[in-house]
Amino acid sequence: MKVLDHIKQSNGKTQFTFEILPPLKGQHIDSLFEGITPLMEFKPPFIDVTYHREEYVYKEHQNGLLEKQIIKKRPGTVGICAAIQHRFEVDAIPHMLCGGFTKEDTENFLIDLDFLGIDNVVALRGDAVKSETYFKPTEGGHLYASDLVAQITALNKGQYLDNEIENSAPTDFCIGVAGYPEKHMEAPNLDSDIHFLKKKIKAGADYIITQMFFDNSKFFAFVDKCRAAGIDVPIIPGLKPLATKKQLNLIPHRFHVDLPEDLIKAVVKCKDNDAVRQVGIDWCIAQSRELMAAKVPFLHYYSMGKSTAIKKIAEAVF
Ligand code: FAD
Repeated sequence: MKVLDHIKQSNGKTQFTFEILPPLKGQHIDSLFEGITPLMEFKPPFIDVTYHREEYVYKEHQNGLLEKQIIKKRPGTVGICAAIQHRFEVDAIPHMLCGGFTKEDTENFLIDLDFLGIDNVVALRGDAVKSETYFKPTEGGHLYASDLVAQITALNKGQYLDNEIENSAPTDFCIGVAGYPEKHMEAPNLDSDIHFLKKKIKAGADYIITQMFFDNSKFFAFVDKCRAAGIDVPIIPGLKPLATKKQLNLIPHRFHVDLPEDLIKAVVKCKDNDAVRQVGIDWCIAQSRELMAAKVPFLHYYSMGKSTAIKKIAEAVF
């Protein structure tokens, strides 16, 4: 079922959802199911599955020469979505990227999803590959997520890349896109980022999922700015509980978000990471309750495949 239909059916009740990462190559799919099963009692209407593009690694040979190799550390997004839908009878939502895909690859990817009965996709640009400073589009691929959204919207109208295909079957994907309450790291300011977010909605996106944030006032201000800019689709907040002291530096570096002073102080005071985890859970519960009171359609948790903290939060909130 589409995300928009899950919202319609909820009668205004906030629902629990979460996101997982495909397991590292070599791990059994059971390792993934172990992270999902304990969360199913909270009846998520859907589970997001992230997409991880290829990475370049350099393998040193005995003669000292380096060989560039292209590897995917976390393959399997589509297979995982199919496995989740089959095993848990819940909608699985694959993330898909511009990076690493030609338009043809994108079309074939979407055809697979359609055949598998997947109703939703989250359309993203993706980051630069690790060895590059800026995102470079794949030759024959898309530069921005809005272009990817436009391709999915076209396929929803039965417009395939090869316009000689006759009696083409339209797909019917509900399309999610990313939003950044504290702006995307490359955007010169939040207004500019929201301007381009609107372009994704105009291209056919149906809803927005946000980057994680730790200060709800940033989310509320972002929603207000989006509404003022004429963006009227549902905006789903993304939340992640802090779990280690190291994340005080890692999270701002990796996700370009600020941590509130009170949270930093509470984490600094902790004797060990068990204590940090409890602080992270309590903070996330408080955030969740306030967002729920504001009637957000879903609370979307970045589980990173680990269920313990998210389960405690869900027990307290839902
Ligand atoms: P875009 O919407 O294309 O925006 C990228 C930047 O370009 C922004 O600064 C924007 O303001 C600017 N911009 C957009 N259009 C234009 C234009 N026409 N002209 C000039 N500037 C423009 N990454 C993964 O690799 N896999 C995942 O599964 C994944 N899931 C994510 C889920 C969520 C909810 C979020 C918030 C992020 C996720 N990401 C994921 C990270 C995402 O791929 C990166 O943040 C990426 O750098 C930007 O993707 P985007 O779709 O927001 O890009």
